[in-house]
Amino acid sequence: MSDSPIVIVGSLQDPHAAAVFEGVRARGCEPVVLDAQQFPEDLPIALGEAPEDIVIAGRRVGRPAAVYVRSLYQSPAAYGVDADEAMKEDWRRTTLAFRERSTLLSAILLRWEALGAAFYNPTGTAHNITKPYQIALLQAAGLPVPATLWTNDPAAVRRFCDLHGDVVYKPVAGGAATRKVEAKDLVDERLDKLQAAPVCFQELLPGDDVRVYVIDGAVVCALRIVTDAIDFRQNEQRIEPIALDDAVARECVRAAEIIGLRYTGMDIKADRHGRSRILELNPSAMFLGFEARAGVDIRGPLCDALLAHRGR
Ligand code: ADP
Ligand code: MG
Ligand code: MG
Repeated sequence: MSDSPIVIVGSLQDPHAAAVFEGVRARGCEPVVLDAQQFPEDLPIALGEAPEDIVIAGRRVGRPAAVYVRSLYQSPAAYGVDADEAMKEDWRRTTLAFRERSTLLSAILLRWEALGAAFYNPTGTAHNITKPYQIALLQAAGLPVPATLWTNDPAAVRRFCDLHGDVVYKPVAGGAATRKVEAKDLVDERLDKLQAAPVCFQELLPGDDVRVYVIDGAVVCALRIVTDAIDFRQNEQRIEPIALDDAVARECVRAAEIIGLRYTGMDIKADRHGRSRILELNPSAMFLGFEARAGVDIRGPLCDALLAHRGR
C-alpha cells in the first residue's frame, strides 16, 4: 500500500469535514487536514516552485491519493468565516487578503490535481456548478431539466409565465427559498425589482422532492422528502429511502459524469406528467442530516471511495 495521504480540505469545526475525517481514520488511515479557516493566522504553509513541494504544518504532503473537498471558505460570506470586523475596519485590505489567501490555496488543489490525486470533487468543476451553466450542460446532453428562465427582463418573465402556467422563482446562485409566482408578483412595481439582481424562474414541478447521492458513477441512495412546502429545507416532515427507477438512476449517474462530479447529492423532482427532472447537482453535498433522518449510510461509501485510491 502506498503512503500517499488522504487529504480533507475543510475545517474540523465543520461537521461534514469532521465526519469524513473520522470515517477515514476509522478505516485505519490518518488523513491530512488542509483547514483553510486556520490559514494564514494559525496554519503554516510553504510552497516551492516544484509541483509537489508543498509543506503543510511541517508535513511534506507530496501527491495525495485522494482529496475530499468540503470547502476552502474563500469568500468573506462563506460558512464559518467571520470577517465582519476586518471588513468594517478596511474592506479593501480585507478583500485583497482574502484573494491572496485563496489564490495560494487554490494553487495547492490545482497542483495536487495535476499530480494525479483523485478529487471529490475536482476544482475545475466549480464553473460547471454555476446553475445557469449546469442546467444548460445537462440539457445539451439530453437529460431532463425543467423549463427555466434566468433574467432581469420583466417582459421575458411575463411571457414565460403565460407559457408555463405554474411557475416558481428562486435565486440564481442561492441564499433564498423557492416560492411560487403569484398574480401579485407580475405587477410592474414588483418586476422592477429585477433591476437589483436577476432571478431564476422555473416551471413548477409538483412531484415529490427526491435527493440522490452518486459516488464514483453509482447511486448510493435515493431519499424521498415528504413535505407540504414548495422548498423542502427546514420543512421536512419525513425522509425515507426509495428505490429509483433504473432509467432515472442512469440519468443521475450520467448527470454526475457530465458535470464532472465524483461525489454529488442531487435534487430531482417530477413534473406534472410524472417525469423526473433534474433541479441541481451539489458539489459538496451535506449528508449528515439525511443519514440521521433516513437511516442510510453515505459517509461510509464516500470514505471507502477515498481510500480505494490508496496504493493505486
Ligand atoms: P438550492 O441550491 O437552493 O437547493 P434547488 O434548485 O435545489 O436549489 O431548490 C431548492 C428546493 O426548492 C428544491 O429542493 C425544491 O424543494 C424546491 N424547488 C426548486 N425548484 C423547484 C421547481 N421548479 N418546482 C418545485 N419545487 C422547486
Ligand atoms: Mg437543492
Ligand atoms: Mg444547491
